[in-house]
Amino acid sequence: MSSSEQDQTDKQKYEFRKVIEDLKEYEGSGTQLVTIYIPDDRQVSSVVEHVTQEHSEASNIKSKQTRTAVQDALTSIKDRLRYYDTYPPENGMVIFSGAIDSGGGRTDMVTKVLESPPQPIESFRYHCDSDFLTEPLEEMLGDKGLFGLIVLDRREANVGWLKGKRVEPVKSASSLVPGKQRKGGQSAQRFARLRLEAIDNFYQEVAGMADDLFVDQRHEMDGILVGGPSPTKDEFLDGDYLHHELRDSVLGKFDVSYTDESGLYDLVDAAQEVLGEYEIMQDKTEMEEFFKELHDGNLATYGFGPTRENLIMGAVDRLLISEDLRKDVVTYECENGHEEHEVVDRREDTPDHECSRCGETVEADEEDREDLIDHLMNIADQRGTETKFISTDFEKGEQLLNAFGGIAGILRYDTGV
Ligand SMILES: [Zn+2]
Repeated sequence: MSSSEQDQTDKQKYEFRKVIEDLKEYEGSGTQLVTIYIPDDRQVSSVVEHVTQEHSEASNIKSKQTRTAVQDALTSIKDRLRYYDTYPPENGMVIFSGAIDSGGGRTDMVTKVLESPPQPIESFRYHCDSDFLTEPLEEMLGDKGLFGLIVLDRREANVGWLKGKRVEPVKSASSLVPGKQRKGGQSAQRFARLRLEAIDNFYQEVAGMADDLFVDQRHEMDGILVGGPSPTKDEFLDGDYLHHELRDSVLGKFDVSYTDESGLYDLVDAAQEVLGEYEIMQDKTEMEEFFKELHDGNLATYGFGPTRENLIMGAVDRLLISEDLRKDVVTYECENGHEEHEVVDRREDTPDHECSRCGETVEADEEDREDLIDHLMNIADQRGTETKFISTDFEKGEQLLNAFGGIAGILRYDTGV
């Protein structure tokens, strides 16, 4: 993945995360919020059919209020589906629709469509409940990373991928290694030798399978996890079976009892700690560099004003944004043409502003207010600046949010700003 493609997905993920956060806050007064997950190979016409069917079945709902709400939601979904041709966009789409509680006994109709999530939607899902079904999407957005998975014992092996939070089994093999009991008449020595040979052959086969899958992707991959009972996985790893570059990227070995496909899932469970560490490791490295520049160098910038100024100059190499930053920015232009900005909380009303240069009071319109991260990422995109979202799950990540306003940058050159 090129870094601009990566930026694109980071930005898209941020957009998705924002919508999901809103959706999670909504509640229906009854079972009346509809969510539909549509894979990209599902014909839109068949979705329309399904929705029509649900609409007619909804006439059986006893509560008039819920019945009307569900049918309104379904009608709104059908209206949205008209915008699509034969198939949904790549990776599919998710539609949310329903009458949400807006307090004081009033309801508001909300319909949101999220197209082309970062990973493909795998199956069609129709969901009607008192809240929207956001978990499958959240899982897609949850983690970064591509990891190779290997589970094996002496009888069986499976290899696959961990993509974000999704396990993808790819290949399996089973062995002809005989059990420990030899048959009568066979010499013990010969039996032991044959058995070792068979084990060796099997390990080679498993390594071949892993090499086929992982070697081409070794530069995109974040690491390999190996699972199985002892001592099989140790024998396998110590025995130089894997391609040497793959062996270097093994992040850890884990005790796992099953070695069928379910073993791949067990392996991911067992490796949670390592995976969590890994995920914030990259964020940690960025923040270490920022602090080093802040204390001993001159390539650090932080806070909205200076970071924005540096961004506009094209001087920012990497823009660091706290994942938990939830602010808007308002752009004010006074009668004398002075443009100034104020950062406000997402839920705060837009304040009036006093121009710092001429003291005039300036009011702002709705369209002068924008999501702070969108605002900065748009400038970053135009200047070829990479944006990195930094988790708050470690000390320096928390400091970025609390001490630096959630915004910082590592500069290409010293600008004196
Ligand atoms: Zn002014």
